[in-house]
Amino acid sequence: MMIPFGDLKRQYETIKVELDAAATRVLAGGWYILGSEVKAFEEVFATFCGTAHAVGVGNGTEALQLALTALGAGPGDEVITVANAGVPGSIAIVQSGARPVYVDVAAHSHNLDPSLLEAAITPRTRAIMPVHLYGRMADMDTILEIATHHHIPVVEDAAQAHGATYHGRMAGSIGACGCFSFYPSKNLGALGDGGAIVTNDAALAHKLCQLREYGWERKYYIADAGGINSRLDALQAALLSVKLRHLDTWNKRRRQLATHYRTLLEHTDLVLPEDTIGHVYHLYVVRTPERDQLRNVLRENGIATDVHYPLPAHQQTTLTQYAPPRGLPITEKLASEILSLPLYPELTEAEVKTVASIVREVQR
Ligand SMILES: *Cc1c(COP(=O)(O)O)cnc(C)c1O
Repeated sequence: MMIPFGDLKRQYETIKVELDAAATRVLAGGWYILGSEVKAFEEVFATFCGTAHAVGVGNGTEALQLALTALGAGPGDEVITVANAGVPGSIAIVQSGARPVYVDVAAHSHNLDPSLLEAAITPRTRAIMPVHLYGRMADMDTILEIATHHHIPVVEDAAQAHGATYHGRMAGSIGACGCFSFYPSKNLGALGDGGAIVTNDAALAHKLCQLREYGWERKYYIADAGGINSRLDALQAALLSVKLRHLDTWNKRRRQLATHYRTLLEHTDLVLPEDTIGHVYHLYVVRTPERDQLRNVLRENGIATDVHYPLPAHQQTTLTQYAPPRGLPITEKLASEILSLPLYPELTEAEVKTVASIVREVQR
């Protein structure tokens, strides 16, 4: 491909010296799981998110699972979420023992439609889990208002929203807790798997620290049921600490490139992503009924694209039992029309121009 959908080698090259130094330090240090490197990263990441605590875990899916377990979700409980954000959230809910209850999204935001939330709440609802999809914050004011009224905690899936803001507040800091993935291609990505939960609740953070390590209250002695092994390793923590220093710059660059796309594409018949203050453009997702056609032409011209995500969660083979009786019309329609164009901090303006010019030939 002439323009790849992502290129993590480009990012490595820009900060190679810093990353190599951090890796060498950890390898020579002789401590590889949790420990001082993880503690140091947890501190800087909590500060970045504006929360009192961060708990490093194995990946984003387990961050969500442990958050739900820590909040008491289990068999017989329901967790309200969306079906258009891939499957990790659903897997996390099912792993906790609860069942996912899917609410449709609003077409303009691709995020949980708060006007449908109230009707989805039952006496068994144990948590509400909105996703800040593509780096755009969900409508947290309305969601929190409804959640607070019903005394239900909100778990933010912020796996695509590192550094995103909502009315000046950081993603992850608004609900009872916020869950992050550091999968390599995320806005803040490790060089392997990683995740974290941020919260202002000291008791919740303490519980999460136990749950990520078998449920141990101290070494070799279990206090909590629902514990698993989901530890962040020292190497990833050290690399993440380096990368966190660049995150604001990278997010700014993502926003710049998104603006560039908008300028070049605004007179086409594509539906462009709604720009909000604090959007960090994890992905640049456009919409057209002729999605597959457009995707093919781009591919023929050496431009890689992707679809996030082609099959909604409630239509996945192992999750159809949780599908709402009348389906999720907006979620299903969006899945057939969305297309993610290349967007990452190391992409050049010239590359954006190339992509846009080919799109314009198809989508006049
Ligand atoms: C990436 C992602 C996750 C899961 O993170 P992993 O680290 O891959 O387990 C969860 N939710 C969303 C919205 C994601 O994009």
